[in-house]
Amino acid sequence: MIFVGQLFFEPTVDIGLMGILHERTWVVYYDTKVSRLLVFSDIHNDARALERLMAIDADYYFAAGDLVSWARGLEQIGGIMQARGKRVYVLPGNHESEADIAEFCKRHGFVNFHGATLEIGDVRIAGLGYSNPTPFDTPGEYTEQELAARLAKFAEFKPTVMICHAPPLNSPLDRVHDGLHAGSRAVREFIEKVQPAHFFCGHIHEAEGKVTQMGSTRAMNVGKRGYLLEI
Ligand SMILES: [Zn+2]
Repeated sequence: MIFVGQLFFEPTVDIGLMGILHERTWVVYYDTKVSRLLVFSDIHNDARALERLMAIDADYYFAAGDLVSWARGLEQIGGIMQARGKRVYVLPGNHESEADIAEFCKRHGFVNFHGATLEIGDVRIAGLGYSNPTPFDTPGEYTEQELAARLAKFAEFKPTVMICHAPPLNSPLDRVHDGLHAGSRAVREFIEKVQPAHFFCGHIHEAEGKVTQMGSTRAMNVGKRGYLLEI
């Protein structure tokens, strides 16, 4: 990053920087390393969508759950992400169990990010997979009480970026259709209380790409198109 100000009264000096510098101009070079976080969700075995995401150059890749449906086809999906290896962080969605994702990460050298945290400089990132109960009895569901208890462990960590599979209840991010919202109350309460700068989720496919402001939190359902955050 280059910052150009005009506060100093310096004698005319030609320091030959692309001819853009004049007298009374000073330049500061900040050594700022920007990290690029690509967050996506709900691939559901769509190999082409995942290939497009893996072609994007990022420092971290966060898969926020449901890479596959009913835990089937993880092998093929793992092969597509293999090239990004240790930069891939994975949460189980409601379609994968904790054990499925633990084994999957171990086999491919990815990071199992379920219930885990990561610090990049002063940016704190936390992840929690699974959804609140669904009508489909999928393998990765928690009760609202379980979600609340697991999220409570992050309250003191005060994440800057919180990534969950489940969206907050009664928001544009969990709207299935008119009048029907299927998100999590515990997730909503966590966002309201802890106010991470960024919240990312998936799970409700109809709400892919939706963004909303919840106090000081910018919340987004990333879906399989994904979102690239620069921090
Ligand atoms: Zn899904």
